[in-house]
Parts: sequence; C-alpha cells; structure tokens
Amino acid sequence: MTGLLVTADPTTCVTSCMCVYRAPEVFDQDDDGLVVVLDARPPAELHDAVRRAARGCPTQSITLTDQPL
Ligand code: SF4
Repeated sequence: MTGLLVTADPTTCVTSCMCVYRAPEVFDQDDDGLVVVLDARPPAELHDAVRRAARGCPTQSITLTDQPL
C-alpha cells in the first residue's frame, strides 16, 4: 500500500484554480491566487481527484510522489 505526497510550485502556478476546483480538500489559493497545498498526504479516497487535478494543471505545477506508508 502506498501513500501520496503532494507538492505544488507557486512560482510556476498561473492561478487557473483548476486544482482547487477538482480537489478542494487538498488545494487552495493564497491572496494572490497562487496554489497552496492544504493536505500534502491526502487520504486514499482523494487520490483520484488529486491525480485529476495534477493532470489538469496547465503548467504542471503539481507533483505527486508515491510513497510507502
Ligand atoms: S491548476 Fe496549476 S496553475 Fe491552476 S491554480 Fe492549480 S497549481 Fe496553479
């Protein structure tokens, strides 16, 4: 069984907010609209949504790493 480590790079984020739309439990935006990771190790039931969010980021600013639990 693996966990998922979520990181996001605000320096390449273009404030599209797609990640927030797709996984609001895991992503938010700061006052400038830049991505903020709320939960770097989300529970398994959110992994599909997080993967969709990462795939949908227009600047590939979200990195997902599978990690052993
Ligand atoms: S989807 Fe990508 S560009 Fe849009 S807010 Fe999230 S990290 Fe930023």
